[in-house]
Amino acid sequence: MSGLRELLASGQRSFSFEFFPPKTDAGERVLWNAIRRIEAMAPSFVSVTYGAGGSSRDRTVEVTKRMVAETTLLPVAHLTAVGHSVAELRHIIGQYADAGVRDVLALRGDPPGNPNATWTAHPQGLRHADELVSLVRASGDFSVGVAAFPEMHPRSPDWDTDIRHFVAKCRAGADYAITQMFFHVEDYLRLRDRVAAAGCDTPIIPEIMPATDARQIGRFAELSGAAFPEELAGRLEAAKDDPADGHRIGVEYATAMADRLLAEGAPGLHYITLNRSTATLEIHQNIIESRSAHALAHG
Ligand code: FAD
Repeated sequence: MSGLRELLASGQRSFSFEFFPPKTDAGERVLWNAIRRIEAMAPSFVSVTYGAGGSSRDRTVEVTKRMVAETTLLPVAHLTAVGHSVAELRHIIGQYADAGVRDVLALRGDPPGNPNATWTAHPQGLRHADELVSLVRASGDFSVGVAAFPEMHPRSPDWDTDIRHFVAKCRAGADYAITQMFFHVEDYLRLRDRVAAAGCDTPIIPEIMPATDARQIGRFAELSGAAFPEELAGRLEAAKDDPADGHRIGVEYATAMADRLLAEGAPGLHYITLNRSTATLEIHQNIIESRSAHALAHG
């Protein structure tokens, strides 16, 4: 039985960190340095993203396996349907099972090269994430997560369609969802209300992305389409020659968001690390302190 499914069923709040597979040996050292620092915080789980193709995919499998073998962490392996036949997907899922990885985030993925291009499934592959959820479920005793979009999936024609497809992948057997990055708490709350109104109670874990540098903003929009708050953009722009100030502003904004999300009942927090640990650990430390202060004040 997956440790993550037990944790979610217990109703405890999760806190987790996301990494990506590095391309170089130097990147590998930076990643493992961050992993060791984060391991010391005993997170509920960590996740490793799945690349658009080629060797980065093998590295996702390698990093995830090494986490099982050499750390106390509970790794969640992201997996996408991009460019894979069903037979290949079965093979990767089998590799995870053999390595003791029991938790998979099942994603459709995006067309390689241009996330906004029209999606075309592999001829012997899967069309949508709900089919990957079913495949992983049918392949063994896995917990399965899916993606959620506080500002709607950019290719969905309207909210009703988006929510219908989201609920379908939850009903296909998802234990939880993790959101795309977002910067307005209201977007998360509205998504949660829409999903609840559709009769679905799958826990939706918000993703927290610390934005500490004005130069990241364009890239965020390209990757996620997330609307970036003008006021925060202005403050980061003003701090663009002072990295320490940018860092402070980003950590402060993300801490306030995370705090409010927990106060609104979010089931956990999933931090994007970009393979660096400092900003996310600071945010998490702030959250722990503010919640202990809250618990003390409210007895
Ligand atoms: P789906 O749920 O299949 O939805 C995609 C679109 O198809 C939506 O518009 C949906 O409404 C529509 N749709 C769904 N089902 C149907 C149906 N039955 N009929 C018609 N239309 C349908 N990408 C990576 O490449 N690697 C990663 O590691 C990765 N990690 C991610 C982690 C998180 C937390 C998130 C939020 C996203 C991640 N992504 C990753 C990006 C993700 O692959 C893309 O956002 C992708 O466009 C959507 O994936 P999905 O699983 O939500 O797809």
